[in-house]
Amino acid sequence: MSVGAETKEFQAEVGRLLRLMAHSVYSEKEIFLRELISNASDACDRLRYAAIADPTLIDGDSNFEVQIRIDKENRRLIVSDNGIGMDRDDLIKYLGSIAKSGASDFLETLEAASSSDKSSAHIIGQFGIGFYSTFMVAASVEALTKKAGDTQAWLWKSDGEGAYSIEQSEKSSRGTDIILTLKDDEAEFLEAFRLRHIIKSYSDHIPIPVLLSEDPKDKGEQANAGRAIWTLSKTETSDEAHKEFYSHVGGMGEGPWKTIHWKAEGALEYAGLLYLPSVKPFNLFNPERKNRVKLYVRRVFITEEADELLPGYLRFLVGVIDSEDLPLNVSREMLQRNSVLQQIRTGVVRRVLREIEDGAKTDPEGYSDFWENFGAVLKEGVYEDVNNREALLKLCRFRTTESSDLVSLEDYISRMKDGQEAIYFITGEAGRNLANSPQVEGFKSRGIEVLLLTDPVDDFWPGAVGVFDNKPIRSVTQGGEDLDKIEETDSEKDEVTSDIDPLIEKIKGALSSAVKDVRVSKRLTDSPVCIVADDGDLDLHLSRMLQQHGEAVPNSARILELNPKHPLIQGLSKKSSQESMDEEITLYANVLLDQARIAAGEPLEDPALYGRQIAELMIKGL
Ligand code: ADP
Repeated sequence: MSVGAETKEFQAEVGRLLRLMAHSVYSEKEIFLRELISNASDACDRLRYAAIADPTLIDGDSNFEVQIRIDKENRRLIVSDNGIGMDRDDLIKYLGSIAKSGASDFLETLEAASSSDKSSAHIIGQFGIGFYSTFMVAASVEALTKKAGDTQAWLWKSDGEGAYSIEQSEKSSRGTDIILTLKDDEAEFLEAFRLRHIIKSYSDHIPIPVLLSEDPKDKGEQANAGRAIWTLSKTETSDEAHKEFYSHVGGMGEGPWKTIHWKAEGALEYAGLLYLPSVKPFNLFNPERKNRVKLYVRRVFITEEADELLPGYLRFLVGVIDSEDLPLNVSREMLQRNSVLQQIRTGVVRRVLREIEDGAKTDPEGYSDFWENFGAVLKEGVYEDVNNREALLKLCRFRTTESSDLVSLEDYISRMKDGQEAIYFITGEAGRNLANSPQVEGFKSRGIEVLLLTDPVDDFWPGAVGVFDNKPIRSVTQGGEDLDKIEETDSEKDEVTSDIDPLIEKIKGALSSAVKDVRVSKRLTDSPVCIVADDGDLDLHLSRMLQQHGEAVPNSARILELNPKHPLIQGLSKKSSQESMDEEITLYANVLLDQARIAAGEPLEDPALYGRQIAELMIKGL
């Protein structure tokens, strides 16, 4: 090693990823080549963009290409590009750590799954292992690189065992050579026919030529089509081609659920090639996650960070928008208030929503999977994007008290009972059996369907939307005098219920300020009690959520509802007529209120007291 070589440890996450890869049975080792070509192509894209502002960066060499050379004698495979290159800081940042947000959490998932081979390969496909995948086939990897505009080249080396070295080096041209010294049993990757096949399968449609040569001194022959896929007509592309391009842009292994490929012509001209993914990316809910849509201007890559191009609720999209109207020298800052970009965004959003709707009709099963993956994100749009709210609401699907299959609002409305005026929902934590909540009993007994909402965003959009198709959207845990209007289907109607007003008065007195009111319930059939929010007050689950996030929530006491038909309430009602029982009624009242809180998923203020009170009642019963 020459003077000045510095050894550095990989960031802990890289070490973990490398170990996982070494032990995983990840079968598609050949994808390392796709990853290298993808990086090389991106590096060329980035330099092409930088050269718009500073043309000297590409002086004398403006034909971008990737070159793959086989050096059988030394068991080496070299992937070179004349792209932007890396300086020392870049090398440390990009080839010594994992820049993806949420990587650590992701690795945890992967480590947990690594015992079962299939799932780990599947999960890793969502992550995109990138450059580090080279260590699946190479005993050692070198990156010899010179950044465009710099005079100093750098050599990065590693055997993938936890450390790497960086030293100053010599390189005549700009760009990067990735030099793999293959492991003994990976000689297949020195065979030209094998490599040509891999390039065809995985990199045919990246927008740059890939040359393959068996003679390190020869330039070689182009092994891919090398035309930007979004510029091709539909007849010139195929599912295979889209799958390949999707994994290049999206970094995900599995093919897309749906491809949206169109050309907008008219006031604005642009080509769109967008993919709706079939799997959920690991960092979909990471606040730093960006969409994977690249902005091009007349075939020149501009940025993949044009936040203004798409709303956040479409951040799962993968693909390319290529505009004919934006100026080539548009800077990322200029994009922020650019009216052309705004118009493109409006058009793209509409198009995407239309295509999703179309997919929901033509492939309902595929759409169910899509909804499971991205529904929670689309619902953010229902809340935020007033202009497209109607279209988004049509895309929404729900589980309900009547159906474990996904149901649309239109389905729901078509099944509404005579006399039912509103669309009802209940929100709660995922995993809780909301269908068994006391608050929905009266709805179930009347055959009224209730939407079961368990995503965090569900606490917000119903309130913002208010009405769908002239039907108010209402929480079952709020107000709700409207159950009166609909008859129970499975009740014993002729059953006489005693007057429980005196009991109600006693319980009110016993609980005093702990509740806002105590009243007879219409919504209970099986449970003795439940709590609900008053009409104008915040929904139960919403106020709990806000509190958990440290928000100041107006402290509105709940309403306790009693089921007059329940034997417990009837029994208590009898007892309550006796003056001597007042103390016991107080005990029962407190226990019942706590039970209602538990059933609603609310925390108890004093769980120990609740325990003691229950014990006291049990003793009395013995
Ligand atoms: P990803 O490509 O998904 O970002 P990689 O691990 O493949 O992840 O690469 C990490 C980063 O290293 C890239 O984002 C890029 O900044 C840098 N890089 C990799 N290969 C090259 C290359 N050939 N030229 C310039 N930069 C590169």
